[in-house]
Amino acid sequence: MSVFLDRVARGFLMTELVKGFALTLKYMFKPKVTINYPFEKGPLSPRFRGEHALRRYPNGEERCIACKLCEAVCPAQAITIEAAVRDDGSRRTTRYDIDMTKCIYCGLCQEACPVDAIVEGPNFEFATETRAELYYNKDKLLANGDRWEAQLAANIEADAPYR
Ligand code: SF4
Ligand code: SF4
Repeated sequence: MSVFLDRVARGFLMTELVKGFALTLKYMFKPKVTINYPFEKGPLSPRFRGEHALRRYPNGEERCIACKLCEAVCPAQAITIEAAVRDDGSRRTTRYDIDMTKCIYCGLCQEACPVDAIVEGPNFEFATETRAELYYNKDKLLANGDRWEAQLAANIEADAPYR
C-alpha cells in the first residue's frame, strides 16, 4: 500500500521530472565533453601510433640504413625491404613497402629502428576507398616523413626521457 501511495505522490509532485530538469541544468554550465570533430580534435600522446613515415636527416639524407630490423621484427610481416650499396659505399633501401592492411600498429618497427627512421606519426586520418591505396611504398612513406617531420621530431624528443 505504501509503495502505491509513494508512486502516486511522486506522480502528482512530478519529482522525477524536476530531478531530470535539475540534472540538465547542472550540466548546462559544465565544460562540454564532446568536441566538434573534424574542426576540433582531442589531444594526442607523443606515443600515439598512427600512420607510418620514413624520416630524413636535416640535410635531406634518408635516415634508413636498410638494416632490416623493422622487417624482421614486424609480427604481421607487413614490411618488405630491398637494399643496395650506393656508389659512396653507404647502404640504402631500394624498396621499402608497408602493407597497411596487414599492419596492427604495434609500434615494434619504430622500437627496433636504431636511427629513428621508421616511425608511427600522429596522423590517424588516412582512411581510403580502396585497398590498393593502403599499400605504401618508399615514396609515400618519405612524403609522410617530410609532411610530419616537425611533429615527429617533437614527439620523439618528448618521449626520450622515458625510453
Ligand atoms: S606497427 Fe607493427 S605491424 Fe605495423 S608495420 Fe610496424 S611492426 Fe609491423
Ligand atoms: S627503417 Fe630503421 S630498422 Fe628499418 S631498415 Fe631502416 S634503419 Fe633498419
